[in-house]
Amino acid sequence: MLEKVLIANRGEIALRVLRACRELDIKTVAVHSTVDANLKHVLLADESVCIGPPPSPQSYLSMPAIISAAEVTDAVAIHPGYGFLSENADFAERVEKSGFTFIGPKAEVIRLMGDKVSAIKVMKSHGVPCVPGSDGPLGTDNDENLRVARGIGYPVIIKASGGGGGRGMRVVHSEGALLNSIALTQAEARAAFGNDQVYMEKFLERPRHIEFQVLADNYGNVVHLGERDCSMQRRHQKVIEEAPAPGISDRQRHTMGERVVAACAAVGYRSAGTLEFLYQDGEFYFIEMNTRIQVEHPVTEMITGIDLVKAQLLVAAGEKLPYVQKDIQFRGHAIEARINAEDAKTFMPSPGPVKLWHAPGGPGIRVDSHLYSGYSVPPNYDSLIGKIIAYGDSRDTAIARMKMALAEMVVEGIKTNAALHREIFNHAAFRAGGLDIHYLERRLGLK
Ligand code: ADP
Repeated sequence: MLEKVLIANRGEIALRVLRACRELDIKTVAVHSTVDANLKHVLLADESVCIGPPPSPQSYLSMPAIISAAEVTDAVAIHPGYGFLSENADFAERVEKSGFTFIGPKAEVIRLMGDKVSAIKVMKSHGVPCVPGSDGPLGTDNDENLRVARGIGYPVIIKASGGGGGRGMRVVHSEGALLNSIALTQAEARAAFGNDQVYMEKFLERPRHIEFQVLADNYGNVVHLGERDCSMQRRHQKVIEEAPAPGISDRQRHTMGERVVAACAAVGYRSAGTLEFLYQDGEFYFIEMNTRIQVEHPVTEMITGIDLVKAQLLVAAGEKLPYVQKDIQFRGHAIEARINAEDAKTFMPSPGPVKLWHAPGGPGIRVDSHLYSGYSVPPNYDSLIGKIIAYGDSRDTAIARMKMALAEMVVEGIKTNAALHREIFNHAAFRAGGLDIHYLERRLGLK
């Protein structure tokens, strides 16, 4: 087993990793910026190292600072969590070259999947359905680009190959705007990602966001853990996630699952990963792969009974997956609500001291949060302060428990988006399930 793991992250996911390490008797090293010395996992870790000032580029994104922290503490492996350096192939490579284990896929696989054009190409060649599109990067031939768009049919979306975080995309509704939109997206992509390669896809008007979770070891064993529906989004940020996705049949799950497993096996995937799809009119369309643990991983854990973070640690330690596909059983329904330190109406961040934190509880309620009374939420980072996960034998039970949990939860001193969640979970359309990715913004009057 790994002796000591450095956790290269902060907040709830750092605490989540720490807890998984503890369960496996692995020693932990927390790294933190100067404003984060009082984070819960820093206080609980076996050792901690301050790696720099609050701005992320000088701390949580500083590869030398993190690697030297691993060196001085004799850690053997680094868990990157999500965000920050988690999908940075150069980081994974430097970690391994420095003699540590990177808890995630191989650097070259991160690189392959990080480029959307190459990821789509790989997926397509293994039978994973993709959005009808340009089948590769757009060239400089205007006539050809116009022809490609005509073939796909408007509206189309121009996307940066190296894009991420919902940036580097532009929807084009008619031919007159196409060439200019391609040029603008290229210029933006060059400035934002240092790579001006763009490609074209059919723009789906009312899709749902459904993603598949995979888990793989170093020996070619890959399983899928079913899907999650993450269609409740605001500005491409997920707000609520659930598993299984309402209305997806066992047969669809099985067919898609087989394909994603085959594709992951073919690229030599390792560790936990997620393939994101848009789903419309009964069809799945692959859009991208995330080569890391996701914020919403707990809903999958609840319905499969598999601890994904522990699995990542075991795989990194060289163990084989202890199960094959037929051992994976899905039971019940789980829903996650992301609790953010922000105004529930204006979405303005609301950092500051937490005067009182009372976590909800009861049957089927899991709370993943680094909050405690007296903790102060710094203004420098993401506003996620916790996740409430409600599990039940049915979706209705999970929703009922979620509503109780939201009513029980108390956070004083800072504002949270709990009121928004209470409203959504009471809404008949949400209770019916299967809403598209624009529903929440339409309902908020933003669209
Ligand atoms: P990012 O890496 O920036 O998250 P994605 O490829 O995952 O980029 O796309 C982000 C979001 O953009 C999707 O969740 C969806 O809302 C929208 N989107 C992307 N491609 C399409 C498409 N072909 N049709 C409709 N919406 C799309």
